[in-house]
Amino acid sequence: MKLNRNDNIVFFTGAGMSAESGVPTYRGSGGIWNEYQWEEYACERAFRNNPNNVLDFHELRRIEALKCKPHAGHFRMKGIEDKYPNTTIITQNIDGMHQRSGSKNVIELHGSLWRMRCESEGTIHEDLENGKYSNRYCECGNFQRPDIIWFQDMLDEKIINNTIFTITACSLFISIGTSASVWPAAGFPKLAKQSGAYCIEINPEETELSSIYDEVIREKAGRGLELCLEKVQY
Ligand code: NAD
Repeated sequence: MKLNRNDNIVFFTGAGMSAESGVPTYRGSGGIWNEYQWEEYACERAFRNNPNNVLDFHELRRIEALKCKPHAGHFRMKGIEDKYPNTTIITQNIDGMHQRSGSKNVIELHGSLWRMRCESEGTIHEDLENGKYSNRYCECGNFQRPDIIWFQDMLDEKIINNTIFTITACSLFISIGTSASVWPAAGFPKLAKQSGAYCIEINPEETELSSIYDEVIREKAGRGLELCLEKVQY
């Protein structure tokens, strides 16, 4: 496949993309949910029962994320975005690693650890320092919560519609480091395929969706992207 400057390209990334930077996945070996119960730290009910406990947990996630750096694969994506302006990164990750490598056109399906939202007013706060918020309350007096999708939360409809629109229009869809087992993200590779995109999966392991891809690269994210870009003659 040879890319043209105006091609619509989608990178669809999951926890495996950040794993190479040292950010732990949620499941599998070293996964966070082996150590913590999500019921106590990552759902609305846990926040209502013990907001400070939940906020401490997310503060720790930010501090841990700050110890990690984007890897060569993140910078390769940024290079593609520079050369092909119709490139979009659709990520399930909440760690902001794509933005830290300079990518601009990023759709965060599950929100961002780096934003806080007042549940009562919906106001967004981004005045973090070294992963910490000096004040856990909104000006209105209510607690702020991380602006991310927790277990049992609804996804933002506008973000999903934008994602579907973007995927439907893409001619190249490259999925990296996702098991694509979390819905609705799990449906996106099929949507890309049905919409006529050339689909490539980069993942060291087989996934439930591997068979629908036109090409599969069984490598880690950084090396996989390098091989992938050779194939698409960018
Ligand atoms: P997942 O944990 O279900 O799957 C991770 C996939 O990455 C697996 O298929 C694994 O084989 C692959 N992988 C592992 N190491 C890799 C590497 N070095 N290079 C390429 N691939 C590698 O992750 P998911 O599909 O993203 O779904 C998990 C959910 O958890 C998402 O909703 C996401 O929001 C959330 N999450 C986010 C982060 C983060 O922000 N960094 C981390 C963990 C989980």
